[in-house]
Amino acid sequence: MAISLTPSIISWCLLFSVAEVMTIQKLTIVGVGLIGGSIGLAARRRDLADQVVGVGRQTSTLDKAQELGAITEGTLELDKGVFGANFVVFCTPVHLISKQILQAAPHLAKGTLLTDAGSTKGSIVRELEGKLPKEVHFLGSHPLAGSEKRGPEHADADLFQDRLTILTPTEQTQESTLQQVQEFWKGLGSHIKLMSPEAHDQALALTSHLPHLLASALAGILPEDLYELTATGFRDTTRVAASDPSIWTGIFQQNREAVLQTLQILNQRLNEFQQALENNEKPRIDSLLAQAKKVRDALGS
Ligand code: NAP
Repeated sequence: MAISLTPSIISWCLLFSVAEVMTIQKLTIVGVGLIGGSIGLAARRRDLADQVVGVGRQTSTLDKAQELGAITEGTLELDKGVFGANFVVFCTPVHLISKQILQAAPHLAKGTLLTDAGSTKGSIVRELEGKLPKEVHFLGSHPLAGSEKRGPEHADADLFQDRLTILTPTEQTQESTLQQVQEFWKGLGSHIKLMSPEAHDQALALTSHLPHLLASALAGILPEDLYELTATGFRDTTRVAASDPSIWTGIFQQNREAVLQTLQILNQRLNEFQQALENNEKPRIDSLLAQAKKVRDALGS
């Protein structure tokens, strides 16, 4: 059977090396912090990319990332960093991602694949759809892995191993883009789940953004004279409140409506607890605690 080499087949072949193992000649990571650094370390450890270029806003972060082996070189200039890249991943705070992608777009080669690691998807995808040159292809991603730490010094080559990465294709997404971005995250060790950007944001409002808000509310009301009386319960429950506010304000603002909806559900449940306590209803308190335990046990450790 004769196969004609259309431009899309040629770019597919250039991106992938033999035997379906993905090899990217130039991978660019914009924002080499915890997530960007972990992508760089994982890509290099697994030989997914020959050259890994980091783009940052301060030399100290790029030097640290290079010293740790997360990137092969760094630049403060976005246009230079993305020039000639086959694959670019944006790992900056969510409110910057679409702006940086649009800023990078004129400097990208034909066929460049773009993705991101942002914790919200709806605004980013909406702000980009229809605005990118036809020859470059964006697909939103969100790896469900990370921590409250920040910076490349906390990056981990195994961060994505056996963790879920959500990809958010839309009607505009080409099949080949979806395949290649999936291969990229699988190459870093992830499993993949596809969701619409809106469904992603609705779900993550409850599974990630609301817990963060609750942890911050709880940590925020602790008076200083009680610090010494906190043990694992308070510390486990509020761990994520130690995250960088400059990352989280943007997440709350971008997913404001969905977070507000989940906050309403949480308020209802808090009211149920309050009423059960006010009325000293033992069976009701038991049942609320038992239902929560069932869910938490099902999640595992
Ligand atoms: P991080 O460690 O703080 O890294 C953020 C990176 O963005 C740093 O390299 C930082 O540069 C750069 N940056 C910050 N503000 C910038 C600005 N104004 N202009 C240019 N660069 C800027 O944060 P992270 O945890 O890796 O988060 C990165 C992305 O991943 C976010 O979109 C977040 O929502 C998403 N994410 C995070 C997690 C998690 O658990 N941490 C999980 C999944 C997804 P400097 O070094 O100069 O500060």
